[in-house]
Amino acid sequence: MVPVTSLNLADYASTAIHKTLFKQAVLRSLRSQVQAAQMPLPNTLLWFRHRSVNDLADANQPDATASCLRTLPSELLQMIALQLSLSDAASFALINRRLSMLIGPTYWPRLRTSAVIQGHREQFLNTLARDLPSWFYCHSCSHLHPRDRVGPPGPFNQPSKPLWCLQTNSGGDLWPYVHVYSYTFNFHHLQLVMLRHYLGPGYGISTDELSFIQVSESGKSEPRGRITTLLSVEARVCGKPARLCLRLQTWAVLHTRLPDLALERSKCVWVCHHLVADEGEMFQLIESSLNENSTRSERPREPKCHRCRRCNFNFQLEVLDTVSDGPAIVITKWLDLGSGLTPMDPKWRILASAFQDGDNRNEQVSEAEKCKMDFEKEEGMMQQAVTLRNASYLSDQRYKDTMSKWLFGEWTLQAGQRMHLCHWSDILLLSLGLLGLMLCAVIWQSACCENQGY
Ligand SMILES: [Zn+2]
Ligand SMILES: [Zn+2]
Repeated sequence: MVPVTSLNLADYASTAIHKTLFKQAVLRSLRSQVQAAQMPLPNTLLWFRHRSVNDLADANQPDATASCLRTLPSELLQMIALQLSLSDAASFALINRRLSMLIGPTYWPRLRTSAVIQGHREQFLNTLARDLPSWFYCHSCSHLHPRDRVGPPGPFNQPSKPLWCLQTNSGGDLWPYVHVYSYTFNFHHLQLVMLRHYLGPGYGISTDELSFIQVSESGKSEPRGRITTLLSVEARVCGKPARLCLRLQTWAVLHTRLPDLALERSKCVWVCHHLVADEGEMFQLIESSLNENSTRSERPREPKCHRCRRCNFNFQLEVLDTVSDGPAIVITKWLDLGSGLTPMDPKWRILASAFQDGDNRNEQVSEAEKCKMDFEKEEGMMQQAVTLRNASYLSDQRYKDTMSKWLFGEWTLQAGQRMHLCHWSDILLLSLGLLGLMLCAVIWQSACCENQGY
């Protein structure tokens, strides 16, 4: 494929995908026309007959397509377009100026209406986006958007003009699982990561851009008392067929060794909408884990796996002892977000709309287990290493030295790096703005004085 950075029609005509479309259509059309008229195949078109589709798709072939197109009469080109689907005909019209004038006005306007419902517009724009690595097709509004108008899920490095369709959040997000306001993971992130996996490093975003760690201090003034929580997120593309999986680990450091108070403070723990710490099986699980921790002498090798049957994901819950801050409840969960091809993918829908679909019990045990296994098989930090790393951030409040201070007692590492809210350029712009305002105020005041005759 020949990548292009803008809609250059001449370059676009030379891309392999359009050559293939054109040549397949020519063969189909000619076969029917020649058979109907019982005529020999014209010499100019014999070139197509002896080549396989794979040969035709080779972008390094001499650019015979463009010269052949120039020799064909308009009627034949229109007949070829009739053999194509709407999305293919709209792509065919982009090959050169003549075709765009001849065929474009017939097919392009139709992409604005019923084609949206039938998927032709999506197919056309997705084909177009393959030649435009810095753009992507948006399923929310059926338009192409520049990739750099989608910021990472964390709070830093956000674009100055974010997409309006991101703000409406029509496709849902992973709030029920992360439970942190500063990390907003939506379908665009899933789509862009999978786009890079499918098409190569020039497209989409990397899995590293999704990684995130946040430590929050809360409850100092509340009767329940002080609690420190940590969330870490890692993303990997796993398995066959490929899908994006997340590993989320949450810590709740309870800052007490008194059993009753520890149980009371553990009510802030959250797995998903269906598994909250202050009720049902989750309460019993936490209570038994805390009791077990106070009586045993060493940490169990492998904590037991549990599952939310409604969201269909696996999680592990363990109680670990911190040296100075008492027991901590650690929950690790593995989410399978699907292939990222459409927001209607059941895997994404179940997770992104856990509120609405909460009563749909999913009994596919093997799928949830497979997500965990596939994730841990991929290259990267093992689960145990992540637990040790997170413990070291919490130890002696190291997070205060190693992470960026965020608002209201929160410290963050985004994409493995410390970020800053303001850049020097922002500060300079702000200073210039203030200076301008002061200047205006002085001028206005002097003008007032002159009017009053002083
Ligand atoms: Zn959009
Ligand atoms: Zn759930």
